[in-house]
Amino acid sequence: MDMGIRGKRALVCAASKGLGLGCARALAEAGVHLVMNARGAEALEASASVIRADFGVEVATVAADITTEEGRAAVLAEAGAVDILVNNAGGPPPGMWTDWDREDFIAALDANMLAPIALIKALVPGMMERGWGRVVNITSQSVKSPIAILGLSNSARAGLTGYVAGTSRQVAGKGVTINNLLPGIHATDRAVALDTGVSEREGITLDEAKKKRCATIPAGRYGTPEEFGAACAFLCSQHAGFIVGQNILLDGGAVNATL
Ligand code: NAP
Repeated sequence: MDMGIRGKRALVCAASKGLGLGCARALAEAGVHLVMNARGAEALEASASVIRADFGVEVATVAADITTEEGRAAVLAEAGAVDILVNNAGGPPPGMWTDWDREDFIAALDANMLAPIALIKALVPGMMERGWGRVVNITSQSVKSPIAILGLSNSARAGLTGYVAGTSRQVAGKGVTINNLLPGIHATDRAVALDTGVSEREGITLDEAKKKRCATIPAGRYGTPEEFGAACAFLCSQHAGFIVGQNILLDGGAVNATL
């Protein structure tokens, strides 16, 4: 399918690996020029080079921490007037509800709520002026169905979800859509880190931990960054202009709910 966005420009945050990289690759395949961000310059540049070679689009890179004001300033300076924004950052660490104090919550809110909101505030006004824009926030299935050990993530992402619910309706009339993609378990470094946590806590092997987590997914497997990226590219496409303020689960059926 032609996504109808060839030649547009996208900022994809936290994109050197995993789901962010999946989104960057799918947008590049649709002909979108990219500004890619991550903290580590080496992996970021390596991923950008592969995308340039594979798809022939322009790719600029900014190695910066997107959760800090300075990092965002550097990224925004390079991005300029982008048509598409994909918000992403690392997820907060797991733990017990008794573990976290104010500073832990502030860090989680900075990364998974306030950073995407700051980028939306910086870039959406230009999209509205130009009459076209797409914002996709990578959140988590934990927004629909809490993952108890990820209480920091549950909290911060719920805040972003509430913000998007209202804001998306305020900007839709100017041709700008904001939606959230909710990953269930996907085969990325983050999934390996969470598998490792289960293996250590329960005294089982990494393979057993992965099998145990796979058994919670009706599809019987982890999702892939490619599948995730394809959904992101569709939400950023011309065809998705009537999809506003939605929370779309990509979880292999793991969240057991009718709606
Ligand atoms: P990943 O494979 O670990 O990749 C994370 C990417 O984000 C890397 O490119 C990393 O590069 C970059 N990054 C991390 N922190 C950053 C920061 N502060 N500033 C800029 N870049 C940053 O993780 P993932 O699985 O793709 O997960 C992406 C998001 O989806 C996370 O928030 C995660 O919690 C959420 N999620 C993932 C799953 C899953 O199963 N994979 C499920 C639910 C939710 P650098 O380290 O070099 O910065």
